[in-house]
Amino acid sequence: MNKWNIPSNLEDKIRDRDKFCVYCHSEFNRNSYTKRATWEHIDNNAKNISETNIALCCASCNASKGTKKILSWFNAPFCRKNKINMESVADMVKSQLNLQKCNLYI
Ligand SMILES: [Zn+2]
Repeated sequence: MNKWNIPSNLEDKIRDRDKFCVYCHSEFNRNSYTKRATWEHIDNNAKNISETNIALCCASCNASKGTKKILSWFNAPFCRKNKINMESVADMVKSQLNLQKCNLYI
């Protein structure tokens, strides 16, 4: 269990899957303030600890997204500038968006 309450087997699985930022596809760099890997809850619900909701994204994306809902974040200048949208994000983000649709969260 890390300090975000992510069990270590899940953490390993996610670190193995997300080698690049799930949003902007930047390569992670632990020595870079903006490109270091950070834990992301795609739906912003810290209690939703699952393989489909937890991902690694770079610190820039995480800081820009903040507490915004993902679909409104896609309209933010940061996403427009970096061409981050529903089509460009990693497959796991797309699956999470589909799950949200099924649950009528949006
Ligand atoms: Zn990013």
